[in-house]
This record gives sequence, structure tokens and C-alpha cells, in this order.
Amino acid sequence: MERILVTGGAGFLGSHLCDSLLAKERDVICIDNFFSGNKDNIRHLFSHPYFELIRHDIIHPIFLEVDKIFHLACPASPIHYQYNAIKTVKTNVMGTINMLGLAKRTKARILLASSSEVYGDSKVHPQKESYWGYVNPVGLRSCYDEGKRVAETLMMDYNRQNKVDIKIARIFNTYGPRMAINDGRVISNFIVQSIRGEDLTVYGDGSQTRSFCHVSDLIQALLRMIETDNFTGPVNLGNPKEITILELAEKIIMLARSKSKISHKPLPPDDPQQRCPDISLAKKKLGWEPKKDLEEGLSETIEYFKKALSPNRKSSR
Ligand code: NAD
Ligand code: UDP
Repeated sequence: MERILVTGGAGFLGSHLCDSLLAKERDVICIDNFFSGNKDNIRHLFSHPYFELIRHDIIHPIFLEVDKIFHLACPASPIHYQYNAIKTVKTNVMGTINMLGLAKRTKARILLASSSEVYGDSKVHPQKESYWGYVNPVGLRSCYDEGKRVAETLMMDYNRQNKVDIKIARIFNTYGPRMAINDGRVISNFIVQSIRGEDLTVYGDGSQTRSFCHVSDLIQALLRMIETDNFTGPVNLGNPKEITILELAEKIIMLARSKSKISHKPLPPDDPQQRCPDISLAKKKLGWEPKKDLEEGLSETIEYFKKALSPNRKSSR
């Protein structure tokens, strides 16, 4: 049976990936230091015979025998990755070196969860993989943006120098159940605010755009990517349907049947004005494109947050 390592497996994306791999009858080892992940995301797997959890920080080396590695460990929301910016850089640099070292020793194929943030405040639209990006190297988002850029560099150099079998996935904004309530990302914020009857906090005038991919579509793409031979990427994975943040706020109020209003707050520094993936490469190489409709996905996510916010629900790390 194939043994698959998922770093960051207790996080939002990682926990859904563990579920899908176990459903495909793979042996799964999940590594997490629970910085932004949560045991509740994987508690249902604790008694699964093919699931193993290791509490470990990937900035330290680890010796395991594995066949494939999904390398997702890294805080993803601005609040989390800016909480300890130096640690974010260490996770991306030392953590990725450790995982590449493991891949080299075990000859495991490794997939990096990179990010659309490598494009920064993009000057081209929509973003293609060939665009080199417009990133501030000294700003508040740099620990994450430059961290992901150097993680990609490391992947390519281990591939060129040591023939490590690599895959680079550039993930665009993804949403769905198990996003952390307090992670400050726009969809979790707006849904929590609309359930609590608080104002939805639109940063700036709300004309900035994002495109949101449902987690179920994204996980399918990651699974296809790791099974695709002779293709390292980078490849954009996301939903090309673009929406302004103001429209998103109005949609969530409507779907949650909430009485909340919208209020405006200052736009954070270096907040990209437009973001939308060109996914023609993913369509061609992986035969993949997202299917889930935004309204349907948001409604499901609203139901998840209603349960997660119920007063008798406990959480633990
Ligand atoms: P998340 O914060 O929910 O999950 C990240 C997980 O990694 C958490 O469980 C956290 O505890 C763990 N982790 C962080 N640092 C670690 C370390 N040093 N050692 C061990 N574990 C560590 O975030 P997510 O949304 O699930 O994102 C997963 C990956 O996908 C990240 O690499 C992120 O950069 C990337 N990504 C996500 C999105 C998105 O929209 N969700 C977009 C682009 C890229
Ligand atoms: N945003 C907002 N209100 C919030 C949280 C975020 O208007 O409560 C905006 C944010 O300024 C950005 C967009 O929503 O323009 C997406 O933010 P998020 O942090 O989810 O992701 P990223 O900026 O990394 O795409």
C-alpha cells in the first residue's frame, strides 16, 4: 500500500486531502505542529487503521519512509503568517529543505502547495504561470510571498541538481468547511460576521477582486497533479470566475439570510487589486477545471460555520 505524507495535514486543505487519500485506500501520515491547524479537523480519523498523526515542526528534520509527499505545512492566512513572520520564512525555507531532503533520500515524489501570492500585486490579468510576478520583498506580506517563491526555487533546484521528482501547484483563494473561524480570510470573516449579525468588514471600497475555488475541486486537482508524469508545473489551480469583494459581501448576506450591514475598513498594505487564475495549463495537462458553483459552495460553508459557532462546541489543539 502506498504510504503518503501530508505536511500541514491538520489544516483546512490538508485535512480534506487526508480524507480523500484514505478514501482511495492510501496509508496516510499527517505531520502538523498545530500552529494554525486543529485536531477537530482530523479527529474523525484518529481511529482509522491507515491514519497516523505526528505532532512535529517541519523546520526540524524527520526520518520516515514514504512514497509520496504533499507538502502543505505553512500558515496561509495573513493574520496567521504575519503573527510570527520569521517563523513563516523558516517554515517555507527550512521546512521545504527538510521535505526535499526526505524526498531525495526516499525517492518520493513531492508536491508543493505554492500560492497565487508568488504573483504579488500582479500587473497582468488574468495570471499565467509564465508571469514572474510583482512582489514587494520588504513588506508585511513578504514573509509569505517571498517564502513561497524561494520554496518554488528550492523545488526546482532539487529537481535540476538531485533529480527529485517534484510538482509545484500555485493555489488561488480556496474556501469551504474547516476554514478556521479566526483566520481573518475574507470568506470566513464574512460568514462569521453574517451569522453573528455583525457588520461585514469590507477593506477599502471593495472593488478589489478575487476568484474562489471550492475545496472539493482543489483537492481533486492536487490528486491529479501528483499522479501526472513528466510535468513539474508550476501550474495554477483555482477558479477563474472573478468577483469583487463588495459583491461577495452582498452575496453572503443574502445566502445567510442575515440582517448584517456592510462597513468599510482601511485596505491592508500590498493588498492585490485583482486576482484571477488563467487555468488553461491545468485544463490541458491535468484535464481539470473547477465544477462547484460559488453560491452552492457558500451555502454549504455557511451551514458548517453555523455548527462550528454553536455555543457547546469545544475546540482543541
Ligand atoms: P492552514 O493554515 O489551515 O493549514 C496549514 C497547516 O500547516 C496547519 O495545520 C498548520 O498547523 C501547519 N503548519 C504550519 N507551520 C508548520 C510547521 N512549521 N510544521 C508543521 N506544521 C505546520 O492553511 P491551508 O489553507 O490549509 O493551506 C495549506 C497550504 O496551501 C499552505 O501551504 C498554503 O500556503 C497553501 N495555499 C492555501 C490557499 C488557500 O486559499 N487556502 C491558497 C494558496 C496557497
Ligand atoms: N478582506 C475584506 N474583509 C475582510 C477580510 C478580507 O475586505 O474581513 C479583503 C482583503 O483585503 C482582500 C480580499 O478580501 O482584498 C481577500 O482577502 P484574504 O485575506 O481572504 O486573502 P488574500 O488577500 O490573500 O487573497
